[in-house]
Amino acid sequence: MDFRLTEKELALKNEVEAFYKTEMKNAPPGFNGGTELIYATEERFQFHKYMARKLGEKGWLSLAWPKEYGGKGATIMEQLVFSEVSGYHNTTGIDVFGIGMFAPTLLVGANEEQKQRLLPPIASGEASYCQGWSEPNAGSDLASLTTTAIKDGDVYVVNGQKTWTTGAHRADCMFLLARTDPNSKRGKGLSVFYLPTNLPGIEIRPILYMDNQHVFNDVFFKDVRIPARDLIGVEGKGWDLTRQTMNFERSGIGQLSWIRRSLERMTHYINTTRRNGKRLSTDPIVRRKLAKLLIGAELGRTLAYRIAWLHQKNDFQNLVPAASASKLYLTELSQKLANYSTEIMGPYGQLESGERAPLDGYMAELYQYCKGATIFGGTNEVQRNLIAWVGLGLPRLKFK
Ligand SMILES: Cc1cc2nc3c(=O)[nH]c(=O)nc-3n(C[C@H](O)[C@H](O)[C@H](O)COP(=O)(O)OP(=O)(O)OC[C@H]3O[C@@H](n4cnc5c(N)ncnc54)[C@H](O)[C@@H]3O)c2cc1C
Repeated sequence: MDFRLTEKELALKNEVEAFYKTEMKNAPPGFNGGTELIYATEERFQFHKYMARKLGEKGWLSLAWPKEYGGKGATIMEQLVFSEVSGYHNTTGIDVFGIGMFAPTLLVGANEEQKQRLLPPIASGEASYCQGWSEPNAGSDLASLTTTAIKDGDVYVVNGQKTWTTGAHRADCMFLLARTDPNSKRGKGLSVFYLPTNLPGIEIRPILYMDNQHVFNDVFFKDVRIPARDLIGVEGKGWDLTRQTMNFERSGIGQLSWIRRSLERMTHYINTTRRNGKRLSTDPIVRRKLAKLLIGAELGRTLAYRIAWLHQKNDFQNLVPAASASKLYLTELSQKLANYSTEIMGPYGQLESGERAPLDGYMAELYQYCKGATIFGGTNEVQRNLIAWVGLGLPRLKFK
């Protein structure tokens, strides 16, 4: 594959880089980008929304969508170029749920009225979404979920509980997976819905981090009435649609460029820090560790670019294991980076703030954040199963 950018792609890259360089100056102090911590404070979330609107004005949130839905009809490679630069700034302003998951789902499965109604507010950065999939007894085994949405005239009545719902307390809308046929089993009888998070009967309760930050939620549904027009796709066929959405969640160039940026920050740290009278950058062990990470990042880049290339060729058979491999590899690489970095920094590396906290606690935050990255979007064990099954053609293991 040819990794060189065309003139058009290069021009887009330069424009996006200049945009982020200017706009990130408006970020609140200590803002490390669009990780899940954007949901933790109002100030961070408002900056995220500000950036979302700015990106929306540029048309960059909907770059590769078809023109009739507000897209620019850009190529997958142009989309990749944009994601690579925005990933470097930790995808600030990009709603991973709305832009990354629900919009592609709408493009694949929604009817015309829904596309016209729901896509523009996502493209403009106005609407923010959360993902209502996991339940207390349905995570990796999502198909065993029990939340029901039973049709009653022209509404569906929802009862049940979702959990680990990132940002539900700040999002305007949710995409929900629920069982429309109460007698069905597993993937059969599931359906996808759009709903505003302020509907009567919805209760959002925080699940606090160990350090008390509020990012996750439990979401309870008691006789919540969703208009029938907000069923997305065909009733009972939501599992097929959701499986496609999972692949949108797993492709990962943004994460790669964010890893590269963290590596640059770490390189700056070892170049400017002295220990026992010597610069850290002259320590052979430190140098070797950083070199290993750089090799890892280069390898990750080829994996992420390959996904865009397979997409462009419509090679969906190879896309599934490639997306799993990229998610698996990049999330483990980010853990290695955080582990090595905090190790090199020594005990101070555990500090999150204050004058003795290296890089203002950035690596300590990364260390905590990237543990979750090997769990959300399908755990890495599940990704390995998928690679074995779809990628290598090994028999599928059934546990139930
Ligand atoms: C940071 C973070 C954010 C999240 N945000 C959201 C969100 O916004 N919305 C949402 O719906 N969910 C969200 N989740 C939930 C997430 O999707 C689930 O945690 C994930 O799917 C795993 O499910 P579980 O926690 O129930 O673990 P389980 O499925 O119970 O897994 C427990 C362990 O068993 C292993 N395991 C399970 N099945 C297999 C198998 N077949 N083969 C091998 N090993 C297996 C797993 O890998 C894991 O190590 C989030 C999770 C995290 C960590």
